[in-house]
Amino acid sequence: MTNDDLFKSLIAHTKEYGFIFPSSEIYDGLAAVYDYGQLGVELKNNIKKYWWDAMVRLHENIVGLDSCIFMHPKIWKASGHVDAFNDPLIDNKDSKKRYRADVLLEDYLAKLEGKIQKDVEKGKRKFGEGFDEAQFRATNPNVLRNAEKMESVRTRMNEALNANDLAALKQLIIDCDIVCPVSGTKNWTDVRQFNLMFSTQLSNTSDDNGGIIYLRPETAQGIFVNFLNVQKSGRMKIPFGIAQIGKAFRNEIVARQFIFRMREFEQMEMQFFVRPGEEMKWFAKWKETRMAWHKAIGLGEENYRFHDHEKLAHYANAATDIEYNFPFGFKELEGIHSRTDYDLGRHQEFSGKKIQYYDPETKESYTPYDIETSIGVDRSVLAVLSGAYKIEKVDNGEERVVMKFHPALAPVKVAVLPLVKKDGLPEVAQKIMDTLKYDLNAQYDEKDSIGRRYRRQDAIGTPFCVTVDNQTLEDNTVTLRERDSMNQERIPVERVHDIVSEKVSMTRLLEKLK
Ligand code: ATP
Repeated sequence: MTNDDLFKSLIAHTKEYGFIFPSSEIYDGLAAVYDYGQLGVELKNNIKKYWWDAMVRLHENIVGLDSCIFMHPKIWKASGHVDAFNDPLIDNKDSKKRYRADVLLEDYLAKLEGKIQKDVEKGKRKFGEGFDEAQFRATNPNVLRNAEKMESVRTRMNEALNANDLAALKQLIIDCDIVCPVSGTKNWTDVRQFNLMFSTQLSNTSDDNGGIIYLRPETAQGIFVNFLNVQKSGRMKIPFGIAQIGKAFRNEIVARQFIFRMREFEQMEMQFFVRPGEEMKWFAKWKETRMAWHKAIGLGEENYRFHDHEKLAHYANAATDIEYNFPFGFKELEGIHSRTDYDLGRHQEFSGKKIQYYDPETKESYTPYDIETSIGVDRSVLAVLSGAYKIEKVDNGEERVVMKFHPALAPVKVAVLPLVKKDGLPEVAQKIMDTLKYDLNAQYDEKDSIGRRYRRQDAIGTPFCVTVDNQTLEDNTVTLRERDSMNQERIPVERVHDIVSEKVSMTRLLEKLK
């Protein structure tokens, strides 16, 4: 199966089993908006808990916050979003399709990268054992030509984006001979800036702004404007962090790739306030800490990488992305930014309120510097779904679809299955359910053959199945089946709760972060 086919089959699987549904589906859907079904919401909640506990509970100097989606409109002026939260947009006049100019160029660069990779693979096959990849890359004329082209396109693109030179962006698209993937033509409009913020109106104001307020495009600003509230009420000492999980909204130009890019999504953001001058040390520390959080999920260390930014946002003095190897390639999953004192400084300027911290150690007052870690909940769900999705051949030659979630993240932890729907087995199984349901998300299932029920639980990623059979009536034991190995062992009924709880424990996952 190609990656594209695999991704399509994953999307179908998530719908079929109740993870993710297109929003408003009976009205033909709403672009780039998705609903989480009965299993999706459990998975999402587990990921949020993993993040929250890793950030807030494991760090004594990080506290939580839940600020509102609606905020004073001046906040978005101060943050720079009203003036600069734009994407460069370009339309193809023939297909009437709309694209992000920078994304067209990024895709073009990815194609060149793909060509280089193909040449390297060819070289490997041709020269076999003695193949020296570094030397091949440094001397092969095709590779050199494409690498040079990439370098030149990337430089021109970054220069145009940094200078906000929209004509230069368009010229670059033309010079690269980029065609619209739908119409196949180069009939492009000029590039325009498009603000990504959604706006709405407050009913009871008639200020000069017409009562316009914005749906927040990030949760971060809610943290900055509460900096003093939290610092003072919590008697927080620098360095300290404020973490929050919440919805954000962006009117994305190109909405595709399922829940990777949505118009309504959720973020998990943490702002860590430090002494000016110490930010690079903390930036390095948070890069390492956040990467460890991702790798502990067990989707394969090789599937993560850092991508340091060449083009820095106006507020940052260092920035990196943690990229994940999604079915459509390595893409941003989390951003880590050293945002300097920009945000607190701007809110001080725009609100006219002093936002400073008195440092009892240095006996100085200053505006703290900030390191941000910002990760999309939905992108994390997609990473976990795509990393966990496996189609395997089993011993009898059949195929099984299995979601190999980390047990602590799995939506359903254990299924209790009476072998048959008679002989008092359902009653025993229900009693076992009663011992599990307070601590674990457990599912009872008595329909169909046991084999089909195991397949259903594999397909939703349930790590353990407990089967009640006639032997249970005799010796009070059940079989415990493990999802990945499919191994079965007999255990006493009274140990089911403790054994399963230990194996699916979030604590064990968090302990890996030590
Ligand atoms: P991109 O370059 O992919 O548009 P970004 O750099 O604008 O992302 P940030 O502003 O750094 O993203 O937001 C932090 C995180 O929020 C991202 O790493 C991503 O996980 C998530 N995120 C941002 N935009 C979206 C979106 N439209 N849908 C889902 N998640 C998003």
